[in-house]
Amino acid sequence: SLTGKTAIVTGSNSGIGLGIARELARAGADVVLNSFTDRDEDHALAAELSQEFGVNVRYIQADMSRGDDCRALIEQAGACDILVNNAGIQHVAAIEAFPVEKWDAIIAINLTSAFHTTAAALPMMRKAGWGRIVNIASAHGLTASPYKSAYIAAKHGIVGLSKTVALETAEEPITCNAICPGYVLTPLVEAQIPDQMKAHDMDRDTVVREVMLARQPSKEFATVEQIGGTTVFLCSDAATQITGTTISVDGGWTAL
Ligand code: NAD
Repeated sequence: SLTGKTAIVTGSNSGIGLGIARELARAGADVVLNSFTDRDEDHALAAELSQEFGVNVRYIQADMSRGDDCRALIEQAGACDILVNNAGIQHVAAIEAFPVEKWDAIIAINLTSAFHTTAAALPMMRKAGWGRIVNIASAHGLTASPYKSAYIAAKHGIVGLSKTVALETAEEPITCNAICPGYVLTPLVEAQIPDQMKAHDMDRDTVVREVMLARQPSKEFATVEQIGGTTVFLCSDAATQITGTTISVDGGWTAL
């Protein structure tokens, strides 16, 4: 059980981050939720999780595109036994048409934020004598697709960062790994289905199987609960010697 551990999950007011936060809370960890928004709903969500799982849950606003915010998130939390770098955005365009500000934002939020949070969290983990860092990469951290240059560069980058952090902490009771999800059914992905149905003139099942899950041999989405469960596993004693590697949760994508 993770009782007594404090987990910080970046970008966790929706989707995969929220799924991870819920599974960590279910496993007994106190949780810090984060996003850049700071709405009443964000604080209400923290209260709901706290009540549901009987653990301490706080919401701390911080913009993961800003290095000082990333470090302040960790400092403000006051403890960080488990750090999950999950915040991420996407933009799809050919390189020569790729907006420079989108490139910069994707590299900042999907990659550089993890450098800052890790730098701030490691001293706390060393002091506590235990730590787990889980970076949410992607099947696109191991393979590529056209028109996603910034995302794929950032996701390959975070796989490399995970390996480096693992080596710098190898002789300590701290591990660092990356989870590489294939397509996960988050609200963001769900919202694309009606547009894809129209664009391809297909029904929901056909568009999901033949367009969205074209590269996912299982022909099923991964779920946020499965990504959360994989995160909890990486925090378990069974995973003590798992460090500096990737775990794919992609229905066979990277086997193709
Ligand atoms: P999502 O849009 O539902 O969630 C993204 C989260 O990041 C939200 O909580 C949002 O508030 C937060 N966020 C965005 N910009 C931020 C910023 N500047 N500062 C702080 N928080 C910010 O998306 P998701 O599908 O849940 O994706 C979460 C992570 O999983 C991302 O890193 C994404 O690349 C990765 N991923 C998703 C899939 C998928 O199919 N959904 C597949 C592989 C990897």
